[in-house]
Amino acid sequence: MNVVFEDRFWAPRARLMAEEVIPHQWKALNDQIPGAEPSHAVENFRIAAGEVQGAFHGMVFQDSDVAKWLEAACYSLQYAPNPELERLIDEVVELLGRAQRDDGYLNTYFTIAAPDRRWKDMSFGHELYCAGHLIEAAVAHYEATGKTNFLSIARKYADLIRREIGPNPGQRRIYDGHEEIELALVKLYRAAGDESYLQLAKYFIDERGRQPSFLLDEPTFGGAYKDRWFHLDYHQAHAPVREQRTAEGHAVRAMYLYSAMADLAWLTDDGSLKDALFRLWDNVTQKRMYITGGIGSQEHGERFTIDYDLPNDTAYAETCAAIGLVFWASRMFRLDRDAKYADVMERALYNGVLSGISLDGKRYFYVNPLEVHPPTARFRHDMQHVKTERVPWFGCACCPPNIARLVASLNRYVCTAENGNVYYHLYAGSRSEFEVNGRSVRLAMETDYPWDGRIAVSVECAEPVSFNLFFRWPGWADEADVSVNGEPVDARGALQKGYIRLAGEWRNGDRIELHFPMRVRRMAAHPLVRENAGKVALQRGPLVYCLEEADNGANLADIRLSADPQFRTEFRQDLMGGIVVIRADGYRSDSEAWGNALYGEYSGRLRKTTVTFVPYAYWGNRQPGEMTVWIRQQERG
Ligand SMILES: [Zn+2]
Repeated sequence: MNVVFEDRFWAPRARLMAEEVIPHQWKALNDQIPGAEPSHAVENFRIAAGEVQGAFHGMVFQDSDVAKWLEAACYSLQYAPNPELERLIDEVVELLGRAQRDDGYLNTYFTIAAPDRRWKDMSFGHELYCAGHLIEAAVAHYEATGKTNFLSIARKYADLIRREIGPNPGQRRIYDGHEEIELALVKLYRAAGDESYLQLAKYFIDERGRQPSFLLDEPTFGGAYKDRWFHLDYHQAHAPVREQRTAEGHAVRAMYLYSAMADLAWLTDDGSLKDALFRLWDNVTQKRMYITGGIGSQEHGERFTIDYDLPNDTAYAETCAAIGLVFWASRMFRLDRDAKYADVMERALYNGVLSGISLDGKRYFYVNPLEVHPPTARFRHDMQHVKTERVPWFGCACCPPNIARLVASLNRYVCTAENGNVYYHLYAGSRSEFEVNGRSVRLAMETDYPWDGRIAVSVECAEPVSFNLFFRWPGWADEADVSVNGEPVDARGALQKGYIRLAGEWRNGDRIELHFPMRVRRMAAHPLVRENAGKVALQRGPLVYCLEEADNGANLADIRLSADPQFRTEFRQDLMGGIVVIRADGYRSDSEAWGNALYGEYSGRLRKTTVTFVPYAYWGNRQPGEMTVWIRQQERG
């Protein structure tokens, strides 16, 4: 299946990754961006290879930044061939090869700084986590270039891990405190066709949470804090994974674990693993997820807290966690063929993921709160993690290359073709090519999504082909108008688990039209989400909207939406590359009439105002200022 974007939303973003972001991130990894936090990540490999003298610098998982960059760069080669970039990738892969130990080991932190600590700090050493990212990059390199040198490096390392770690006598019975190796091994199994990698992934998943946990015996367990927020649940190691009922701990770790569990459940048809995943899915998406698809409510431990605890201004909602949710959602589809997974994937992608990167691709958010009041965020101890503007790089730079690798591979998330069925999960102007029932088919999709819900699909094939086309009826759409070659289709009658099924023999030139009208929806949260009581958020199509100071002046918390707002939408080509802006009537306090008193008797006196909303993903791309997603709702009466 090959999908190429040809629209004005994703195509420019994919191009931006290839032409700007990937070269720019290479500079960041080599400390060539003035004012950015240093990385030293590439230099660490040169030191480990013995080519330069020096000390290791950076996080213990600094290697993973290089690996994720390589992975993103390889994906970009598939849609934007670039011989210069390919040469650079080859050089980096050769450097990795030179930094690899004779036994296959490849980790610059443990090689340079802590050679006697190998496999002894599973809690925080991120050793297998880094190995996982190297493996993912190697698989992407193999797929993009057909070269096997990087894959051989990864296999040599995976073979060492397989020999040294496992349940057998003489092996270390351990797993990593930060999941990642598990899903990477599944990819390696599928690329290399070696079942032993799948078995190793299964070992890691089955072993996690076995009690008493070996993690408790590590001196590093609990990290610097050694408090209850860094206990076993932080690592999703509080119970065997099949017994876990709620999403606990570090949100990114959880997403990578659940993604691997979903891979394994699919490949091995493991019913108990599937049941656990369905429970965890419901817990995350029905009780612990922001409306933006952000997850992780608390900074301390970068973690899940309890059901319905979703504070807006102290949210963590790491960009990587929303990316992880996209990974997990796309894998859950394979277990259940239900559109609810793609609904969440779309929510996270268009909101909590895209907010992580500026429109020029050069500045990033690590934390994605739903409400920012810059003076408060800059002072408050409990908001130290909140950045009020995107920054060029981070000392802990997990998010920037993660978003690059997702956007550069997003064409893989659009649709699934299997067993005579083609499912469209996401909508974007694109051309898709796939084999179905032994025939080659091309589908051209035209749409101005996410700004407009009209979608036209034309079929191109040499001979007629029978297959089922499934189009997701987005969860946000009340209605769907569907026609095939101008003949209306009963979309509701054709609905199967949220996908509209169009069966038949398709011929060259057949045309399918879908329309999911995009009205502005006022969204409320479950009454138990205390932070959002009496408030609404606007959503139009897949995009969640927010208010910015740039359009509405300061003190956004004081603004309320009128009881019966008449929403006015306008596509503004001049604004931030072109966005749909929403306007509505609202009210705010009459501060002149109020005077200087801190407290006074309630008067109910308000003045009318126009409230302007822009997509949350775009916030912070103009001048710095306040932002809020949730706005107070004036009651009727
Ligand atoms: Zn991150």
